[in-house]
Amino acid sequence: TGSAASNFIKEIVAQDRAAGKHGGRVATRFPPEPNGYLHIGHAKSICLNFGLALEHGGTCNLRFDDTNPTTESMEYVESIKDDVRWLGFAWDKELYASDYFEQLYQFAVHLIRAGRAYVDSLNADQIREYRGTLTEPGKDSPYRSRTVDENLDLFRRMREGEFAEGSHVLRAKIDMASPNINLRDPILYRIRRVPHYRAGDAWLIYPTYDYAHPLSDAIEGITHSICTLEFEDHRPLYDWVVRESRAPSTPQQIEFARLNLTHTVMSKRKLLRLVEEGHVTGWDDPRLPTIKGLRRRGYTPEAIRAFCEHIGVSKRDSVVEMALLEHFIREDLNKRAARVMGVLRPLKLVIENYPEGKIEELEAINNPEDSAAGSRLVPFSRELYIEQDDFREDPPKQFFRLAPGREVRLRYAYIVKCVGIIKDERTGEVMEVRCTYDPETRSGGSGAGRKVKSTIHWVSAARAVPAEARLYEQLLNEASPGDEQDFVSCLNPDSVQILRGCLVEPGLAEAKPGLRVQFERLGYFCVDPDSTAQRLVFNRTVALRDTWAK
Ligand code: ATP
Ligand code: MG
Ligand code: MG
Repeated sequence: TGSAASNFIKEIVAQDRAAGKHGGRVATRFPPEPNGYLHIGHAKSICLNFGLALEHGGTCNLRFDDTNPTTESMEYVESIKDDVRWLGFAWDKELYASDYFEQLYQFAVHLIRAGRAYVDSLNADQIREYRGTLTEPGKDSPYRSRTVDENLDLFRRMREGEFAEGSHVLRAKIDMASPNINLRDPILYRIRRVPHYRAGDAWLIYPTYDYAHPLSDAIEGITHSICTLEFEDHRPLYDWVVRESRAPSTPQQIEFARLNLTHTVMSKRKLLRLVEEGHVTGWDDPRLPTIKGLRRRGYTPEAIRAFCEHIGVSKRDSVVEMALLEHFIREDLNKRAARVMGVLRPLKLVIENYPEGKIEELEAINNPEDSAAGSRLVPFSRELYIEQDDFREDPPKQFFRLAPGREVRLRYAYIVKCVGIIKDERTGEVMEVRCTYDPETRSGGSGAGRKVKSTIHWVSAARAVPAEARLYEQLLNEASPGDEQDFVSCLNPDSVQILRGCLVEPGLAEAKPGLRVQFERLGYFCVDPDSTAQRLVFNRTVALRDTWAK
C-alpha cells in the first residue's frame, strides 16, 4: 500500500509550472458551500488542493461558495474551518463568494453592455421548455432581443426589488442551439427575496453557481480550479464567463472523479436527511463518514491523509471499499495507540489459591511496535474479570481458551486452570469461573516459558473502572444503493451496539475524550465526549482484523 497511485492533476500542475503557464504560479482553493458538514469526499479535495499548493510553494484559499441564501449558515462555516485545520492544513486566505456580490453584479452589467446577457421574462417552466433536449435544439426566448438599455434598466430594478421571484432572470446570451445544453443561454441571476446569512437583506438577486464560481476563481487569481467530474460539461461555460466578463485572470478548470465509499452515503443532502430524521445522533455520529464523525470514531488526520494519497485522483468514477479506509486507520493506530486491557462482557474469575486482599502490580508493555512507549503496572488480584467469550463450559473443537479442566495464560500474569464453575440455579448461566494459578508461571519469571494454547486478557475486580463501549457496524447493508432506491431503506438496524457493563484497567480512569487505545484482542477504541466521571465511554474505531484484500 505504497503511494504509487496515479494523480494526473499533479502532473498537469507540475507541467504548467515548468512551462511558466499562469506566470509559473500555483494558486488553488478549496470551495465548500457552507450547507452541511464536510465528509471524507471533501477530504480528498482538501488533500489535493492544499497538497498542490504545498508541493509548489503556492497558495490555497479556503473559499466559502456561499451564493445560495436558503441553505447556508455560520454553524457550517465554523465546522468547515475546524475540520480543515484538524486535517492538518492552513489556508492562505479565508474568503467568501458573498463578499464578491457587488463585483459580480458589475461584471453582469458589463456583460449586458457588451450584448452578452439579457433579462428574460419567461417563467421557469417556459425556460425549461424553450431550452430543448439532447436531441432537439432550443429556441430563442421572445425577450432575447431586448435592447441593452432595456436590459440594464430591468436588471437594476431586479436588484432594487421591484419584481416578484420568478418573474425575471438574467441570462447569458450564448447559443440556444448549442449541442452542450449548458451553453443554451444559462441563467446568471435569479430574484430571491430571502436574506443571506452573511449579506443580510442587502441583496434580492443571487448569482448562480455557474456564473459566480469562475468569477470568484478569477478574482482570487486561482490558477488551477479543481472540481468534480459532473462539472466537465460546464467547462465551456466556465471559460465563456471568464472570457466575456474580462475577468482579471484566467483560471483553468480541471475535473476529477469524486470519492465514493461502500456502505455509506456521501452527499450533504443525504447526510442532512439522516441527521434531521434522527437516524443518527448528529453530524458527528461516529457511524457517519463526516470528518466530525470519523474524528469522534477515533480516526486520525494522518490516516485520512494517507488514505487520500493512496486512492489517487482519476477521471473515472469508482467506489472505494470501506475496508480500505479501515486498513489505513489500523496501520496508523498500530504504530501509536497504547495497548490496554478491558473486558466488554465481564465474567468473574476467582483464583482459589491466591491470597485474599493481596494486590500485585504486574508489568505490561504499552506498545510492542514502539519501544519508546515503555511499560506500565497493572494490578492483579484474587478476583478478576475475563471476557465471557473466553470461557466455554462445553468447548467446541477449535476452542482453545478457558474451559473446565483447561489452562490459559492471563496476559502479563500467570497460567490459571479452571477447577470449577458456579451457575445460576434458575437460568443455568455460568456466573463465576473458579481457578487455581501456578505461581511459577508469572510473566518474566523462571517458569514463564511453559506453553499453553492461548492467552486471554482480564481486569482486576478490585480495581477495574466501569465503562461503556459502542461497537459500530456499517451504516448501510447495501454496498452501493442505486439512485432509484431510497437509501434510508438500506440502513443497517444494527449499526451500533452499546455495551454498558464493561470494565477497563484502572490506568484509564482519568482518560480524556479523544484518547485512542488498543484494547488487546478487541480493537482500537477512542474515548467519547459522552464520558462522565462515573463512566467512561469508548467508541470502537475498528476491530483488529484487517479485511482489506491487498
Ligand atoms: P455534496 O454533494 O456532498 O453536497 P458538493 O460538491 O455539493 O458535495 P461542496 O461544498 O460544493 O459540496 O464541495 C466542496 C468541494 O469538495 C468541491 O470542490 C467538490 O468538488 C469537492 N467534493 C465534494 N464531494 C466530494 C467527493 N465525494 N469526492 C471528492 N471531492 C468532493
Ligand atoms: Mg458544490
Ligand atoms: Mg451539494
